[in-house]
Amino acid sequence: MRITRALRFGVGALALALAASACGGGDEKSALDNVKDGKLTVGIKYDQPGLGLRNKDGSFSGFDVEVAKYVADKLGVKPENITFKESPTPQRESLLENGQVDYIVATYSITDKRKEKVDFAGPYYVAGQSLLVKSENTDITGPESLNGNKKLCSVKGSTPAQNVKEKYAKDVQLQEFDTYSLCVEALLNGSVDALTTDDIILAGFAAQSPGKLKVVGKSFTTENYGIGVKKGDKELRDKINDAIEAMIADGSWEKAIAATVGASGFQATQKPTVNRY
Ligand code: GLU
Repeated sequence: MRITRALRFGVGALALALAASACGGGDEKSALDNVKDGKLTVGIKYDQPGLGLRNKDGSFSGFDVEVAKYVADKLGVKPENITFKESPTPQRESLLENGQVDYIVATYSITDKRKEKVDFAGPYYVAGQSLLVKSENTDITGPESLNGNKKLCSVKGSTPAQNVKEKYAKDVQLQEFDTYSLCVEALLNGSVDALTTDDIILAGFAAQSPGKLKVVGKSFTTENYGIGVKKGDKELRDKINDAIEAMIADGSWEKAIAATVGASGFQATQKPTVNRY
């Protein structure tokens, strides 16, 4: 009798668990379903030259844009069927969580904290945090020279701002804006002394204002750029990882770097290795 009851309880619990998991699985639609009508919405930056830039004529250019298009092509979507959506740093997780974009290619570092909310394919590039100052500046040479008299600009919710807060906040006066282009404006008009974010982003801004700005010091973090997808969308993540590997293997990755950030003299790091977790 006791055995029967225990057995019955066990079977019941198992059935419940199965029902719960089946239900969870059913709820989780893959963004790949959107591809069935040949269309995708992809998040990029609009104001980062060389990476993700919306040009005056409404077209888009940059390495992230090239990666976004290559991935879309592998998913069976033509470039003209991609709708790009601006994805500023502080909004990326919620854009994915709310399903407003299918994936994000926007200088988006893979971090454990972000992985609580979204998943990442990649990395497709490895950058490092650095500093941008005016060309004539001589007293800022690296993060250790950022003392209490210095005003440093970065972007809300970014890993560089976080890093500076944890390591240098005691001294430096950190100003956080929504985008890096606002920081560049502040740097050019003298209301901040330096801008911190990834070296590849800073190089694009320096190239945009020839002779006015320079990147200083060595990179002082490792930023693995991932392609953000909705948490749990393993099907899409796997397909994007395949696409990144193909892009690196067939030479398109190198070509895209050369045609975008490389065109302004930036030396890209070596090719990354995709990490399937
Ligand atoms: N890679 C860094 C991050 O994801 C900085 C660049 C950015 O804000 O997009 O926070």
